[in-house]
Amino acid sequence: MKRFTIAMVMIVWFAAIFGLAILNLELTPTVRAQELPVLMVENPQQEGTADWTISDMTFESNYPIGFTFKIKASSSGGAITRARALWYSPLLRPSETRNIQAQEGEFDPETGLWTATWEASAIMMVPPWVELMFHWELKDAAGNSFETEPTIAEYADNTRQWTRSESDAATVFTFDLGPEVKETVLDAIAQQQPQYEAVWGAPLPRKPRVVLFGSLDAWMEWRTVDDNAEESMIIGQTFDQWNAVEQVLFGGDMDAAIRELAYSTVVHEIEHLYQAEYVWSTRDVYDIPSWFMEGDATFFELEQSYDYLGKVQEMAANDVLPPLLVDPADAPRTDGDNARDGYDIGYTFIVWLREQGGVETHHQVMKLLADDVPFFSALEQVTGMSKEEIE
Ligand SMILES: [Zn+2]
Repeated sequence: MKRFTIAMVMIVWFAAIFGLAILNLELTPTVRAQELPVLMVENPQQEGTADWTISDMTFESNYPIGFTFKIKASSSGGAITRARALWYSPLLRPSETRNIQAQEGEFDPETGLWTATWEASAIMMVPPWVELMFHWELKDAAGNSFETEPTIAEYADNTRQWTRSESDAATVFTFDLGPEVKETVLDAIAQQQPQYEAVWGAPLPRKPRVVLFGSLDAWMEWRTVDDNAEESMIIGQTFDQWNAVEQVLFGGDMDAAIRELAYSTVVHEIEHLYQAEYVWSTRDVYDIPSWFMEGDATFFELEQSYDYLGKVQEMAANDVLPPLLVDPADAPRTDGDNARDGYDIGYTFIVWLREQGGVETHHQVMKLLADDVPFFSALEQVTGMSKEEIE
């Protein structure tokens, strides 16, 4: 019954997007994302009376430096005066409005092709092996306009030998790692899949991609926004916009590292993708403390780096537990020197929450958060306790 409710909410949301589709197609893509329903458009959109002919529409990955879109087009209304390629995540969520990119096309009279290129830079990078969606906007000399149908492309690394493995729940890419790595990762995700679906009422709308590097050089190559002069280095990043978890493994005890990656890191990070999909995409209130979201993601770890619950119980016994349901500034941190406290206390809170009514309680809280119910009210409604009693 509860699953049904979530499904209905999603259908209504998609219907709302569809309803706005035709209305907003002529708007520039900087409008709010829910008003830019390119995903729902089944046929190319056209304004004016011209007949348009499209051919040779291609996408080429130039990984690691970017990608190129090409198109050949003509209109009965006259010469084409402008062509630009728009690209975005296939999971364009309301909160991702600003992530629509536009590349102006350049015309080559010799080939008759329009070419638009995106290049990675110090302010923007796209991780390898993610899916993106694109379409072209065309205008002719008579003022007619035309939009091609949105098309899915993949930002492939064609410069190396990658392996690709897919289950019902995820797609895993590995480079320079043993053949067992992808199986281990898919196994961990498969073990948690019923749990994700029970908490969220549905799987992710597109399979997440887990992209794993066994080489630091290969990893560094695409990370154009990193400041490598810094003493610390990013060795893993989850891109909820791109529905992808990207990680590098190097040095040390590889067997232990692979286990931790699969049974702790990846299953934790995938829960963040669910949070992005089902809470952040619809929520306008930013009152959910990070300890709660990190605690929830930590709850999905199949193996713990140490005894999280034991650590928190010890803090409680020593009377050094920080207050929980207070202003985030006073609540447990998930950054800085005591960053682990927020994760461990958050984890302990989720364990307690589930003791109140199992997975159903967990699911109900997430559903209320997705519906914009204030954080403390959501907890009070589901547990039937006041904030003070919960604390
Ligand atoms: Zn996390």
